[in-house]
Amino acid sequence: MGLLLTMSGCASSAPNASGSRTAAVVATTGMVGDLVQFLTPPDLGRVAVLIRPGVDPHLYRATRADLLKVFDARLVFYSGLHLEGRMDALFERANRPGRPSLPVTSQIPHEELIFPDDGFDRPDPHVWMDVGLWRSTVPVMVGGLSQAFPQFQTHFAERAQVLEPLLDRLNSAVGEAMASIPEKQRLLITSHDAFAYFSRMYKIPVESIQGVTTDSEPGVADIDRIVSLICDRQLPAIFTESSVNDRGLRAVTEGVRARGHRVELVGPLYTDALGEPGTAAGTYLGMMVANARLIASTLGGSTTPLDALETDMMPEKNHVTTARSVTTRTAGV
Ligand SMILES: [Zn+2]
Repeated sequence: MGLLLTMSGCASSAPNASGSRTAAVVATTGMVGDLVQFLTPPDLGRVAVLIRPGVDPHLYRATRADLLKVFDARLVFYSGLHLEGRMDALFERANRPGRPSLPVTSQIPHEELIFPDDGFDRPDPHVWMDVGLWRSTVPVMVGGLSQAFPQFQTHFAERAQVLEPLLDRLNSAVGEAMASIPEKQRLLITSHDAFAYFSRMYKIPVESIQGVTTDSEPGVADIDRIVSLICDRQLPAIFTESSVNDRGLRAVTEGVRARGHRVELVGPLYTDALGEPGTAAGTYLGMMVANARLIASTLGGSTTPLDALETDMMPEKNHVTTARSVTTRTAGV
């Protein structure tokens, strides 16, 4: 059976007559898809995630196979707030009666959103970096799923009651780990500005070379400013991101070295994409734990709160991993 599915998957990227390539639910990023998978029973059908690990959602364009998946799915969840900027029009078009395309961030109160001072008047889309804010996507997912698949309504509600306390615990553990970093070293420097919500929630200042999207090249002035900051603070490390080119950061480390200091380039942090399935950062919970662990341990803080959380949530983590492994891979991979 497994072999048969695999073979039919490899044979053609077009949907066949029996519709075996059709996903019941489509999610754009891994952060969205992972929570959806947590909430859904295996017999609901496939949950397909469009944007692969390590791929930048700001720049992602839907492939032909993605278009077919989106228009065939019963339900589409995307992150929203223009994160998937090059797919906004697609989701508007795909949103039809009985086959909705829903931005999971729609219930986040306007006053909770951060508007960067970049002249675009658009909210920062990286809300999943604050676990408390990302928790507010769960009712949107449960609402959308319950409408589309009323037969599983009880299951969705039960799973949400498991998921929400888990996210609360994750939120506290990340906060405790960040609070344990000595004040002088509590500064997070990254490639692009994905950490504004993380910074606000977990009280760690952040600086980045690029703005909230990866659309532009970092400028010399930005790099110089960061170099001075690292030298002044004698910061031990700056952080790469799994889905963003680290050219700008490498220019920073060279600049620091030219001034007679040393700074380590550490990473990756998972900001806009999960890690590979089956790895520590392959789930939303795992991604947040991996990030907090790397930041805390590199900057002189404690990882004890994260270790305790990981031990306790082992059974849930396994569940998520099992659900994920059912997903068939994208054609052509
Ligand atoms: Zn981003």
